Amino acid sequence: MMTIRLGLVGVGKIAHDQHIPTIAASPDFELVATASRHGSVEGTPSYSSIEEMLDGPETIDAITLCQPPHVRYDAARLAIASGKHVFLEKPPGMTLGEVAALAEQAETAGVSLFASWHSRYGAAIDDTRAWLAGTTIHSVKAIWKEDVRVWHPGQEWLWEAGALGVFDPGINALSVLTAILPRRFFLTDATLEFPENRAAPIAADLTYVDTAGVPVAAEFDFRQPGPHTWEVHAETAAGTMLLAKGGNELWIDGVLKTTAPEAEYRGLYDQFARLIAAGKSDADTTPLAHVTDAFLRGVRVPVEPFHY
Ligand code: NAP
Repeated sequence: MMTIRLGLVGVGKIAHDQHIPTIAASPDFELVATASRHGSVEGTPSYSSIEEMLDGPETIDAITLCQPPHVRYDAARLAIASGKHVFLEKPPGMTLGEVAALAEQAETAGVSLFASWHSRYGAAIDDTRAWLAGTTIHSVKAIWKEDVRVWHPGQEWLWEAGALGVFDPGINALSVLTAILPRRFFLTDATLEFPENRAAPIAADLTYVDTAGVPVAAEFDFRQPGPHTWEVHAETAAGTMLLAKGGNELWIDGVLKTTAPEAEYRGLYDQFARLIAAGKSDADTTPLAHVTDAFLRGVRVPVEPFHY
């Protein structure tokens, strides 16, 4: 396959942590330009906006959008209208409507749209899905807790009206649950804790049930100091399951069954290359739909103000 020439928009935390090293190691992609108001990548032509990047001399086949979600739609629309394949960081948009509109535009333009969910590419996700499919599940609980100051240092956008707050990592748990559980589940009860000075939640307690009546719960919290917890626990007829490290380790009854070095973003870029080669899109919004349900259904409890 020809190398896919890539433009990267929003050179910030996740671009540096994951995208730039993963693209550099990918056999399918070459980073040919970046667009960011402040960030750049040494040795790569850089522009301060996507408009300038699209007007530049570099030939670009595909664009990855790593800015916060509230500015993603306009950039994606422009990229699609310019005939580029588009990779959206998670969450794919601010609303379900935005993503549906982009999917329609991508189809009309004949380009691939990829709504990426990196946690679905954890090393133990496929084995966990297969293991759960072979047993009777009694209950499930996802626990996603981390220190927002470590994972989102100074990110004020996270707390604005319409932003996700603790659902920014919590949506990763929802992307995992919707990938590993055998049946659809839906929200029955939710409590969202909002700091008095913020418009987005800092913690959430969510109760679901699946279509066979199995209880599914999720707890998200941004106030956990020290090491983070990104885990799914399940009680089943075949034993106690723990999916740990965000989807990268499967434990059954305390015995480690599957693990491998973390390679989620390599998995994402391999999938993006496959989609482009096949002329297909992958714009699943199920995790985002669960978040919108939580905001719609959740009881809002005020808690002490949050400051970085
Ligand atoms: P970030 O560092 O705050 O933002 C990325 C870059 O986007 C910034 O460096 C900034 O670059 C640009 N940007 C910020 N605000 C903007 C605005 N209002 N308008 C235009 N550009 C803006 O955030 P991040 O942590 O990389 O997260 C970005 C996305 O990746 C989020 O959707 C997040 O959920 C997802 N993600 C984050 C992590 C993580 O660990 N942080 C992990 C996985 C996925 P310039 O100032 O140079 O334009």
